[in-house]
Amino acid sequence: MSTCPHCGSGHIYARKFGKQTCNSVGMTAGAIGGFAAASRGAALGASAGLAAGPIGSALGGIAGALMGGLLGAVAGSQTGSQIGEQLDGTVFDRMACHDCGHTFNP
Ligand SMILES: [Zn+2]
Repeated sequence: MSTCPHCGSGHIYARKFGKQTCNSVGMTAGAIGGFAAASRGAALGASAGLAAGPIGSALGGIAGALMGGLLGAVAGSQTGSQIGEQLDGTVFDRMACHDCGHTFNP
């Protein structure tokens, strides 16, 4: 059990700052990217596949965009977490102290 190197307190916790931050950023970027990519694909599909009817192509476009956004968000958050874990302990200190707010690496 490690203690805070600044005040000696045992009330320390893992910050996971990089992981959490990159997870959020990755999820947002992935959702936007996935939504945009799916929207482009849906527009192409709608113009090429009007034989299925305008309602069918509209529904397909909406579903495609939602799925693209969802898949993009999942992929983005996973990528973000992986990048963030690399930053934790290198760019960002891995641990923090509840009592004095000092951040450090064990
Ligand atoms: Zn401390």
